[in-house]
Amino acid sequence: MMNAPSGEGKRRVGVMGGTFDPIHHGHLVAASEVAHHFDLDEVVFVPTGRPYQKDDKQVSAAEDRYLMTVIATASNPRFSVSRVDVDRPGPTFTIDTLRDVADIYGSQAELYFITGADALAAILSWRDVDELFELAHFVGCTRPGHTLRDPGLPHGKVSLIEVPALAISSSQCRERVENGEPIWYLVPDGIVQYIGKRGLYQG
Ligand code: ATP
Ligand code: MG
Repeated sequence: MMNAPSGEGKRRVGVMGGTFDPIHHGHLVAASEVAHHFDLDEVVFVPTGRPYQKDDKQVSAAEDRYLMTVIATASNPRFSVSRVDVDRPGPTFTIDTLRDVADIYGSQAELYFITGADALAAILSWRDVDELFELAHFVGCTRPGHTLRDPGLPHGKVSLIEVPALAISSSQCRERVENGEPIWYLVPDGIVQYIGKRGLYQG
C-alpha cells in the first residue's frame, strides 16, 4: 500500500498505469526518466484490472500482474504499487484510476500521469477528458515505433519527453517466452523467475 502524503508542500506523484503483462525495462526506464525530469517524490505503478482496450485478448490474472509489478519495483524506494484498479470490479478506465489515486493522496498531491507515445495518441478518445486534465498533468514518453506528437491536447496539460529508447514490449516478451526464447535483461531478473515459477505465457 502507498504511504499517505506527509503533509508539508505538494507531493509530486507520478502515476504509471499499465497492463504490465509482464512489466519490463521500458516501463521502468520511462518511470525513472519522468521522475527525474519532473522531480517527482514517488511513482505509483497501477496495474489495470481488466483493461477495456484489451477485452478480447487473453490477459494474465490481475494478481500475477500485480505481484510482478511489486517484484520489479521493490528495490526502488520511490516506486510503489497500487491495487486500486486490480480491486475495482469491471474494466479499468484511467479516469477511475486518477480519481482513486487523488482520493488516497488528497489535495496535497500533484499527479503526473505517465504514458508512452502509443497510449498518448489514444488520449482524446478517453472518457471524461476534461476531468482527466483537472486531475493530472499528462506526460507522454517516446516509444520506439510510435511518433511522439502533440495530439492537440489542451495547452499546458501535456508534456512530451524523450526517454532512452528501449524497443521492448510486453507482447514481445510473452511471445518470446512462448517460443522458448530468453527474456533475460528485457525484464528484471525476478520477473524472469516469477514467469518461470508460475508457468506464465507458455501458450
Ligand atoms: P503490450 O505489448 O501488451 O501492449 P506494453 O509493452 O505496451 O504491453 P503496457 O502495459 O500496455 O505495456 O504499457 C503501459 C504503459 O507503458 C503505456 O503507457 C505504454 O505506452 C508505456 N510503455 C510500454 N513500453 C514502453 C517502452 N518500451 N517505452 C516507453 N513507454 C512504454
Ligand atoms: Mg501496450
